[in-house]
Amino acid sequence: MTVQPDAPPSTAVIPVIHRHELIIIGGGLAGLRAAYEAVSSGINVAVISKVHPLRSHSVAAQGGINAALGNADTTTHDSWEAHAFDTVKGSDYLADQDAVATMCREAPAAVVELEHMGTVFSRDDAGHIAQRPFGGAGYPRTCYAADRTGHNLLHTLYQQVTVKGVTFYEEYFVTSLVTAGGACAGCTALCIQDGTIVGFLAKATLLATGGFGRIYERSTNALINTGDGLHLALEAAAPLKDMEFVQFHPTSLYGTNILITEGARGEGAVLLNKNGERFMKNYAPGAMELAPRDVVARAIETEIREGRGFPGGFVHLDLTSLGEPLINDRLPGIRQIAIDFAGIDPVTTPVPVQPAQHYSMGGIDVDVSGRTPLPGLFAAGECACVSVHGANRLGGNSLLDTLVFGKITAETIIGDLPDLDPGGASVIEKAVVEEGNRIISLFHRGSGDNMYQIRDTLKKTMMDHFGVYRDGPSMDAGLIEILSLRDRCQQAGVPLMQTPYNLPLVHFLEITGMVRIAETVARCAIARNESRGSHARKDYPLRDDDHFLHHSLLVPDGDGTLKVRTSPVSLGMFPVKERVY
Ligand SMILES: Cc1cc2nc3c(=O)[nH]c(=O)nc-3n(C[C@H](O)[C@H](O)[C@H](O)COP(=O)(O)OP(=O)(O)OC[C@H]3O[C@@H](n4cnc5c(N)ncnc54)[C@H](O)[C@@H]3O)c2cc1C
Repeated sequence: MTVQPDAPPSTAVIPVIHRHELIIIGGGLAGLRAAYEAVSSGINVAVISKVHPLRSHSVAAQGGINAALGNADTTTHDSWEAHAFDTVKGSDYLADQDAVATMCREAPAAVVELEHMGTVFSRDDAGHIAQRPFGGAGYPRTCYAADRTGHNLLHTLYQQVTVKGVTFYEEYFVTSLVTAGGACAGCTALCIQDGTIVGFLAKATLLATGGFGRIYERSTNALINTGDGLHLALEAAAPLKDMEFVQFHPTSLYGTNILITEGARGEGAVLLNKNGERFMKNYAPGAMELAPRDVVARAIETEIREGRGFPGGFVHLDLTSLGEPLINDRLPGIRQIAIDFAGIDPVTTPVPVQPAQHYSMGGIDVDVSGRTPLPGLFAAGECACVSVHGANRLGGNSLLDTLVFGKITAETIIGDLPDLDPGGASVIEKAVVEEGNRIISLFHRGSGDNMYQIRDTLKKTMMDHFGVYRDGPSMDAGLIEILSLRDRCQQAGVPLMQTPYNLPLVHFLEITGMVRIAETVARCAIARNESRGSHARKDYPLRDDDHFLHHSLLVPDGDGTLKVRTSPVSLGMFPVKERVY
């Protein structure tokens, strides 16, 4: 239905309803890998994306994708078991070990499959896929395409699914999931191009909407990473898991927080404080710069807080010993980013870096098959929590997660499809009308509170109270601020009254979701009285396996109140140990 800002709420118009067997919300790597699997088995698949799929954040992935191919080190024999061990240890023992085993076992086939589809990987001298060392990994295991791995993977998959006939709805912003008879029956979406609200009726709905990094002031994430899918799931009463675990990448470019890939350290770059000291020897003498991200981010943050950073709050990432030919061959994007955005050439000058939010380990609660507890609703990729990353993700494991679990979830859907029945279109038609009326009511609020001020306050609150280091009183104060922002959202108006490309309307819908997601992070973080992985509490500096070796599960009550519950971690393959690097 057309959303005319000055029209009275109406039910007279018959809404447009699109029908598919499977709708995938998200055109990043998880969404497209699932689409490839489903369309290949003859299913009628549509991909809905708020931007062109090739602008999904997956395209920005730099350093690479992990798989125990053993190409770089044939004498010591990497294995999927070694990959699984590194992943579980990296997760601070919170990852589900059965899910980790699945991911690591499937990794070589997932990478080779994308190679055969046409991904142009960097090569070693023997002509095999090149592999570089990454943080927390016992072997050089990260396959890469220079420092543009995500770009190459996403373009390859997009070409493949386009050829196979997947339907794309580009620049459609999904505003709600529709449930009928206790199952997901599809969704409503705003067509950004013309401002209409349409419905999608489907037997199966897959959320592949990526991360929520933009709730933080400093983030390496794309502007579109606002966590919409998690908000959609929560509103449909599907639980979220482990939301307190937010990854800070150690090395974002000071000033803009554009990512400087871990691949730079993998190739030999070192971290220096203002005294020229290679300070990682004081934090992880064994792994040094290639300790996992939580360890390195805390080290940099500590150097800065204790006065050994440079004025303004950064340290140096020194690539100068790598030499121009290697930098041009393996890190050309990083060199260009540093030149364009900091006026610094890494060939000759150290790069100023600081930690910034980078990844969300938590997400929509799914089992190893990709099912949420809500029948008909599935999730994969960064928006989902399987969980293979636990309390801290290893670099190179997220691209892998998208491909492996994108495929597995599609296989699950293919199997479940005969038993899923979304019912008739009437429930979706009703939802479209209700959604249209809700949006019209936003236009009637007048100028209201300023949503961009709400957003900026939220970002600062998350940075100040839920950053690299946390403590109880500060987090309590942060939650109070978030709740007041939630109230302010009820007063915020949508200023622009034109209908096509009403981006302030899109931003408003994103911001209300961001505030809600921030609340989930805060509630889970406050409930976990220990330090584990990325969740580092000054008031509880130690890991406490007796009381907290469990997942946090956020379940909305009927009145919208969020309750933090727990669910068990799947153990068994590797004993829980102290985590030292
Ligand atoms: C700068 C950077 C570099 C990285 N480098 C690496 C790396 O080298 N190796 C690695 O393993 N990981 C890396 N990561 C992490 C990894 O890239 C991501 O976790 C992964 O690509 C996420 O893929 P995805 O398919 O889950 O989501 P995304 O690629 O983020 O796609 C999300 C999709 O959802 C759609 N969407 C969202 N909300 C809506 C809505 N309301 N309506 C309609 N559509 C919607 C978007 O349009 C988009 O198509 C990096 C991340 C960043 C930020």
